[in-house]
Amino acid sequence: FGDLTNVVGTYTPPEEKGRSLILNGHIDVVPTGPEETWERSPWDAAMKDGWMYGRGAGDMKAGLAANLFAFDAIRAAGLTPASTIHFQSVVEEECTGNGSLAALQRGYTADAVIIPEPEENMLVRANVGVIWFRVRVSGKPTHVREMASGFNAIDAAYTVMGALRELEAKW
Ligand SMILES: [Zn+2]
Repeated sequence: FGDLTNVVGTYTPPEEKGRSLILNGHIDVVPTGPEETWERSPWDAAMKDGWMYGRGAGDMKAGLAANLFAFDAIRAAGLTPASTIHFQSVVEEECTGNGSLAALQRGYTADAVIIPEPEENMLVRANVGVIWFRVRVSGKPTHVREMASGFNAIDAAYTVMGALRELEAKW
């Protein structure tokens, strides 16, 4: 994601006297899979029965737009937010959350954050995360005629994978 850029807009109140807020959304999408299994190009936006279909329309450009519309609605109602609000459009969420992490590392913090990720009309306070890591396993090379005296590294990987499955089940 090194060539992609997060975008953050900041509202600063006339007088800081409340609790700050981040309104966050991501713009990346998961891979399409085989495009021939789609009814149309997944990269086209199409309207049908009042709904927009296309990659990322729901997850989560709709949430990004809702963040801005909510702020506009508050202002249109004649209200003035009492504290700083950061609007964040981040470049990556689907695999790790590196987009929001980069924004945090850039210094954008607040008392609370709202992420209008589509979650089947539920309020979700926490969600599953992703951990990426590498495991290096080693075998003991031997001649094929004396296989029993060696050890296959792929077998070692199966052992590690089994332990990770047990850990996943425990979690
Ligand atoms: Zn999402």
